[in-house]
Amino acid sequence: MRKKITIAIDGFSSTGKSTVAKELAKELEYIYVDSGAMYRAVTFYAMKNGFISTDFFDLDSLTQNLNSINLSFKLNTNTGNADMYLNNINIENEIRTLEVSSFVSTVAASSSVRKKLVSIQKEIGKNKGVVMDGRDIGTVVFKDAELKIFMNASANTRAERRFKELIDKGQNVIFDDILKNVVDRDYMDTTREDSPLVKANDAIEIDNSNLNRKEQFDIILKLIEEKIN
Ligand code: C5P
Repeated sequence: MRKKITIAIDGFSSTGKSTVAKELAKELEYIYVDSGAMYRAVTFYAMKNGFISTDFFDLDSLTQNLNSINLSFKLNTNTGNADMYLNNINIENEIRTLEVSSFVSTVAASSSVRKKLVSIQKEIGKNKGVVMDGRDIGTVVFKDAELKIFMNASANTRAERRFKELIDKGQNVIFDDILKNVVDRDYMDTTREDSPLVKANDAIEIDNSNLNRKEQFDIILKLIEEKIN
């Protein structure tokens, strides 16, 4: 059997981390974990329970209720991907809205939330053979990951990609709102006190502004092969 490693993919919002991470996990028969979906799920829970809205965030109440949040990923046989479940309800579509995106970085800056999610993430990856994407995977969750990738692309390129994705899903969105959300989240994710988004010293940076999916996949797969062999 081939040696299993841990692959951490971090980077700015909408850099296509999850697309390539999913493709790699399929190719290698590894577990794929979209850690951003977990922060989105907690955000959705906070919104539904009235703990967060514009200019209002009741972190104490969210923290007190963290034990009532049960997160799981289940395979969607139509898409072949894992959907996010909150307390056994599929919320995969609900967590991808611009509204959730506009609150998620505030929720993700909370240490109580991070503590809970990081411990679940560590547990999922404890036997290696995992590709996880997020903001703190190579710096906090899997500091010892054999391969760390840091993905980047210009804010405009990223907003264009996200805009297209949401339009394709039938959401009624305006490009400038998406661009603002991408820039705002970059700022909040890189300046927060707890686990800010930063490139790990041993991460390999890939700017994919001018790379297509296949080119990017091939570059990372080659790096993985080097680590495994
Ligand atoms: O990856 P995605 O864009 O879905 O992540 C949504 C948000 O969740 C990020 O903007 C960030 O605030 C937060 N996040 C995080 N740490 C991670 C993954 C996501 O803080 N490991």
